[in-house]
Amino acid sequence: MSILDIRVLGDPALRKETVPVESVTDDIRALITDMFDTMYAAEGIGLAAPQVGRTERVTVMDVEGAKYALINPEITSRQGSIRGEEGCLSIPDVFGEVERANAVTVTALNEGGEEIEVAGTELLARCLQHEIDHLHGKLFLDYLSVLKRRAALAKWDGIKSQYPGYIRKVILEKHTPHHSEGEL
Ligand SMILES: [Zn+2]
Repeated sequence: MSILDIRVLGDPALRKETVPVESVTDDIRALITDMFDTMYAAEGIGLAAPQVGRTERVTVMDVEGAKYALINPEITSRQGSIRGEEGCLSIPDVFGEVERANAVTVTALNEGGEEIEVAGTELLARCLQHEIDHLHGKLFLDYLSVLKRRAALAKWDGIKSQYPGYIRKVILEKHTPHHSEGEL
């Protein structure tokens, strides 16, 4: 297992379009394992490949005890809309209210290369949309109003010097994981 460095806001990796995975190889499965390790160490509930500087179209999530590793995920349906607070492992300590579909259905490949469908509502739906956005270079800040985005970026300006080179070193601490802040 290895814990990867997380790229934070300002790293161009976060704005890159990912490349669909052609075949689910042991390298992809190793990436997924490392992404889970990194996500748990950082106490997040979701992590997408660009957040660890990779270009594969891969995301991992753990929402309310259910683990998901999704390869080439695509949203095939959206219903309703709901506002809710979001954070992001790549923009630590910055949060904002984002309007999202309240229910989504996603198709993807799993770690075995089989086609799967995931239907989620509420937090799972929000996490799916947030992570799939990452795979297309999109961040939750992009949804904020001009004023709220300006405030979020001003807050980030005071924080970002903690992450030289746009790198967040994740250190595994020995305590019980909690996901109260819900950084994705
Ligand atoms: Zn995120």
